[in-house]
Amino acid sequence: MQPVDFTSISTDPLELPLFRSKELRADVLRLDRMHPQVSGNKWFKLQYYLDTAIREGSNTLVTFGGAWSNHILATAAACRMQQLRCAGIIRGEEPARLSHTLAAARQLGMELYFISREAYRAKFIPGALREPGCLLVPEGGYGPPGAAGAATILQYCNVDAYTHFCCAGGTGTMAAGLLQAAPPGTTVSVISVLKNHHGLEKDIRHLCPQASARLQVVHGYHFGGYAKHPPELLACMNDWFRQTSIPADIVYTGKLFSAVLALAQEDFFPPGSRLLLLHSGGLQGNDSLRKGTLIF
Ligand SMILES: *Cc1c(COP(=O)(O)O)cnc(C)c1O
Repeated sequence: MQPVDFTSISTDPLELPLFRSKELRADVLRLDRMHPQVSGNKWFKLQYYLDTAIREGSNTLVTFGGAWSNHILATAAACRMQQLRCAGIIRGEEPARLSHTLAAARQLGMELYFISREAYRAKFIPGALREPGCLLVPEGGYGPPGAAGAATILQYCNVDAYTHFCCAGGTGTMAAGLLQAAPPGTTVSVISVLKNHHGLEKDIRHLCPQASARLQVVHGYHFGGYAKHPPELLACMNDWFRQTSIPADIVYTGKLFSAVLALAQEDFFPPGSRLLLLHSGGLQGNDSLRKGTLIF
């Protein structure tokens, strides 16, 4: 498979009249360019789990996710590259036809275990995966190693050039890593992609108790809830692409970019702010859409 290419990560300036009129500058950190399948932030969140598995001699990485999970596919790819066995515990019964994501994960060698939604909620682990040698990675890579891995993302930009680091938040692991790495006096602005996910701020702070930067969690840009993608969101993503030539995904970065535009419009960011928007990848999930829905 194609290797991950860190040299392709760039910071692309956004030349939008809205930002100019509000005296804002904004760049996008393009983690989506590292690899077509391996979601940018997932790769970073996994790196220390992989190191632990190798160091401790675990032979199998075990993790959890849904049918379109970026985390599942990134885990499958990362394990393939490290020649580690891996298993995915998948929410819901096995469908007659696998999603693109699961088919690609299986192709990369991941063993898939389908469990009911109830069992999934209860974090049930099939007996075969409770053997010694199996290392469990929490869903989304949430945990101190995940945050420490995400902190290394900011090595790919000049951190001192920004006042605000803006990212999408699911489990909050990436946001916690950014908080660890962002210089004092800067702000990490997190757009929650889940509806009423009021525990997000606590989950982030739990992974970063001595946050040197300020944390701002923004609710209200979930577009109906996790993975919901009403026509307004799709229109916004197409519009964004027309203006910036940057593709977004329906679950995370589409919501991030829409939110940042709306927040800029409402003067949420003080004039003179310099924003770094994290394009955390995830484009493979757009394969769940009907062809032609997006213009990119
Ligand atoms: C998983 C994911 C996120 C959210 O990361 P968390 O660390 O769970 O908050 C953001 N963007 C993309 C593209 C993702 O795949």
